Order: sequence, then structure tokens, then C-alpha cells
Amino acid sequence: MTTDTTAEAGRDFIRDIVQADLSSHKHNRIVTRFPPEPNGYLHIGHAKSIALNFGIAQEFGGQCNLRFDDTNPTKEEQEYIDSIQADVHWLGYDWGANLFYASDYFERLYDWAEGLIKAGYAYVDDQSQEEIRTSRGTLTEPGKNSPFRDRSVEENLDLFRRMKAGEFSNGARVLRAKIDMAAGNINLRDPVLYRILHAHHPRTGDKWSIYPSYDYAHGQSDAIEGITHSICTLEFEDHRPLYEWLLDKLPVPSKPRQYEMARLNLTYTLLSKRVLTQLVRDGHVSGWDDPRMPTIAGLKRRGVPPAAVREFIKRIGVAKANSVVDVGMLEFCIREELNRTALRRMAVLRPLKVVIENYPEGQVEEIEAINHPDNPEAGTRKIAFGRELYIERDDFMENPPKKFYRLSPGNEVRLRYAYFIKCTGVVKNDAGEIVELRATYDPSTKGGNAPDGRKVKATMHWLPAAQSKPAEIRIYNQLFANPSPNAADFAADLNPQSLEVLKDARVEPAIAESNSPDPVQFERQGYFVRDADSTPDRLVFNRAIGLRDTFAKEVGGKG
Ligand code: ATP
Ligand code: MG
Repeated sequence: MTTDTTAEAGRDFIRDIVQADLSSHKHNRIVTRFPPEPNGYLHIGHAKSIALNFGIAQEFGGQCNLRFDDTNPTKEEQEYIDSIQADVHWLGYDWGANLFYASDYFERLYDWAEGLIKAGYAYVDDQSQEEIRTSRGTLTEPGKNSPFRDRSVEENLDLFRRMKAGEFSNGARVLRAKIDMAAGNINLRDPVLYRILHAHHPRTGDKWSIYPSYDYAHGQSDAIEGITHSICTLEFEDHRPLYEWLLDKLPVPSKPRQYEMARLNLTYTLLSKRVLTQLVRDGHVSGWDDPRMPTIAGLKRRGVPPAAVREFIKRIGVAKANSVVDVGMLEFCIREELNRTALRRMAVLRPLKVVIENYPEGQVEEIEAINHPDNPEAGTRKIAFGRELYIERDDFMENPPKKFYRLSPGNEVRLRYAYFIKCTGVVKNDAGEIVELRATYDPSTKGGNAPDGRKVKATMHWLPAAQSKPAEIRIYNQLFANPSPNAADFAADLNPQSLEVLKDARVEPAIAESNSPDPVQFERQGYFVRDADSTPDRLVFNRAIGLRDTFAKEVGGKG
């Protein structure tokens, strides 16, 4: 695993710029912003932007605004606004009083657009969207001027006001900046500033029939809020000349600067709201918070601690070139954090009953088990031990190969914290399947050690049959089976084994009784958390992550 050394030192090229701007007094206070469009739930790519923007504000004693970029009412919903706020908080960041909406600025943006028209920098174009697209030219050929480009200021103002008043239908006209149809940068070929859209807006209602474009709204919102460093992803690099052109032509109260960084991309993962929306709409997942989703809500439901996400973001660093991060790095961070914090418990995912024939019928004793091997303060708990137990089906083989050290006929193993047992018999049903084992225990090995010093090669987890509780356990694997899923045809790359449901698992009573939402380690199985579907009568657990990296094996060696 490689880590970015500058990130380890808490430094990257953006923080270096911020530091330099403070040292030179270009700015005395840093203001950043996280500007999501509320058209879906946040994903782990957004976490990178959140950690960077809020992190910089914290580290340099500045401010980070949460600004909803709500300029497209046909795609935006209150549900998304609410979830975005919850997810930023869950990640551990807070905007304080600095919650804003681009729609707060619609009036000012409109007035400034009239200003552009009056100065001869904008015009109303009657061409269709298609005509505008085809006359824009290509990377090698200049665009063509619109036949409406040289309208008078009076005519432009009149038409723009009537657009605002709702006189025209959707798509009938747009307001365009008048820059240069031959510019080498296509973003400067008279970009659209306003489009007609008769749509109800979650915040401004039916007040507006025209809405500003991203390019027009974004930079001006930054300027209104006094943003000093406007951080975005690399695909906006070519928009920067337009960002600066608009700041230059408008009477804005401040001049932010835009900086671009690489997007986060992860193997086996698609980080695009378009794809994630479709996964939800087409029922490939149970919802935005399905634990297989790379959304913040999905990670949370899966039992991933926010500290693991923050650590991951810190490790990947902030670079100027796009790359794809191995999802194993995220899993590593999740495992590290949970190994440190999760209490140990036992669960049997695929139970096989064992009857200890020499253990007195009706007798039950309490076995003491450690809650965390590295943290004595986490204490111990008691687990009942009796004549009937469950072990993991995989831990028994009737005809074991050479190096199988777990339970098999005649072989002795340790039951964690309890006793040595030896398998003495196998009970099968009519179909020849093993339904139960017979064993004996050595009463002198209480606590898991033999007084005569003899050793066993395996220690297995177990649970008492009567006192353990039934539970459903959901094992999640990668949603996509392809390390670089095809965003255009993602359904073909879905992993058919992304969810495995174990309905007959057993868990310790200590878990069933606890109301703690914290993940636990099921010894030898991984880290698990109670799912939102869980009820006292029907316990449901999600596996956050396995103990080791087994993914390559699970999808047939593709990883
Ligand atoms: P998507 O492509 O998933 O729809 P988006 O960029 O359209 O994402 P926004 O809501 O506009 O989503 O994003 C808010 C902020 O998050 C932007 O500043 C954007 O640059 C940043 N962001 C989005 N995706 C990533 C990513 N994968 N890595 C880093 N930053 C991202
Ligand atoms: Mg966007």
C-alpha cells in the first residue's frame, strides 16, 4: 500500500497555497465552501471534498460554508438537502451558522445579468439547444456566431425581462455571455447563463421561470460569500477562464480563486450520482443507504466509523492528477479503526450443533470472556457453557485434508475461553448430511489450557445452544465484480454475489441485550453492526468488513 507522504505530514498543494496566502497577507482569514447539488445522497468522493474544505477551515482558523447549489429544481429534493446535512455532521464537520443556498442569491444574480446585458456582455439567443450545440464548433474548429448575437441592448433587456416574467416556454430562449465564438477554450464560446425552466423550486417556489447555469451561479455565489479558495475537481479546470471572466465583468464584492484537485475514484466502485440514482431507482440496491452503496449513508449503515473515512481521506492525500485508489485501502482503514475500537463478541454464522456427551445434563456454567485484547479497561463478560453448543459448520470436516487442524473425528481443539473438546461421533440425516456432532470435553482444561501442557492446533468460537439468540446476518461483498465498472452499462458489471443473507446465525446474549449502535468484532468473522431493520424479536446484523482481505477470492480471482 502506498501513501502520499505529503498527506502524512498533513500537507498538500492546496494547503501550501493557503499557508502562503496567509503568510503574505493576501488573505487574513480563509473561507472555503462545500457546494453540493442536492440531487442525490453524498458519496465517499464528496467526503474527500468535505474533509478538505472543512479541514482547511479548521486547521487555519477560518470558515467553511455549506452551500447548496440548488439551481436545477427538476432534479433537486428536500430529502437530499436533509441527508447531505446529516452526512456532513456524521463525518464530523460543522458549518455553524454558515448554511447557504445558491437560490438565496437569485435576485442578485439576475440583477448582475441585466448589468452584463447593459454592458454589451450578454445577449438573448433564440436558437434551440440543438442549434447552440452544433454551432459551438469543436476543439479544432471555431464556433459560429448566433444570428441573434448582435441584438440591441434594449431588445436583449426586453426579452430577458419577459423570460423572467414567464412569457416563453421551456427552451425557447437562453441568455448567453458574449465572449468569443472562436475562443480556443470551448467554455468561452458564449456560454449559457440563464435558461427558461417552468419548475417549482423547493425554496423559491414558483417565483422563477428562469434559472442560472452552474457556471454563472457558482463563481458569483463564491464571490458573494467571500470565499477565498474555491476548491473543485479537475474537470472544472477548463471552466476557470470563464469563472474569472465573470468575476472580472461583474460588480462582485470579492474575487475568489478556483483551485482544482483530482476526483476520488475507487476500484470496484462508481462514484457518480447519476449511476447511484439509477441503482436505487432500478432496485439493484435497497436504497441510498444500502450497505453496498459507496454513499455516506451506506457506509454508515454498514457500520463504518466516520474516523475510518477521515483516515482514508487523509491517507490518499490531495493530488493534481487523477488516479484510481484501490478499494482495499478504504477497507484497510475500516479494519484498523474497528480493530482498535470494537468490542469482541462471538457469533456462529452457520451453526452446527455439538453435544458434549460427558457434560452433565442440565448443568450450566459461566465462562469469562475478554471484551478487548488490547484494552483491559473494556473488561470481561460471562458466556454460558453447557452440554449443547453450536460451532461453525466450516470448522468441522469429517474427512479432513492434511493441514486441517480444526475439529474432525478424533481430533482435539480448544473452544475459546472454555475447554478442550474432542469429536467422538457424527450424526447424519437420511440424506447423509451432518446434522449434529458428538464430543467429549476435558474438565481439567477449563479456561482453555491443559494442566499436562498438551497443545491443540486450533481455537474455535462457539456459543451455547440454549442461551444464544437467533439472528440474521448480512454479508456484503463489492457491488461490482469488475475492478473498473463501466458507468455506461453498469448493470452488466454488478456482482451477483454482493449480498449473502445468513438467516440461521446465532449471537451472544450480550449482544442481543445491548442497545449499543457500535460495531463489534465477531471473533474470527469480522466486524458487524446491528442493522436498522433489527428488532428485539428479529436481530439483524451487517458485516462492515471481514478480518482479512478475502475479496479477490470471493469474486473468483478478478481482484
Ligand atoms: P457526481 O459526479 O457524483 O454527480 P458532482 O460533482 O456532480 O458529483 P456535486 O454535488 O456537484 O456533485 O459535488 C459537490 C462537491 O463535491 C464538488 O465540489 C465536487 O467537486 C466534489 N466532488 C464530487 N465528486 C467528487 C469526487 N469523486 N472526488 C472529490 N470530490 C468530489
Ligand atoms: Mg455537480
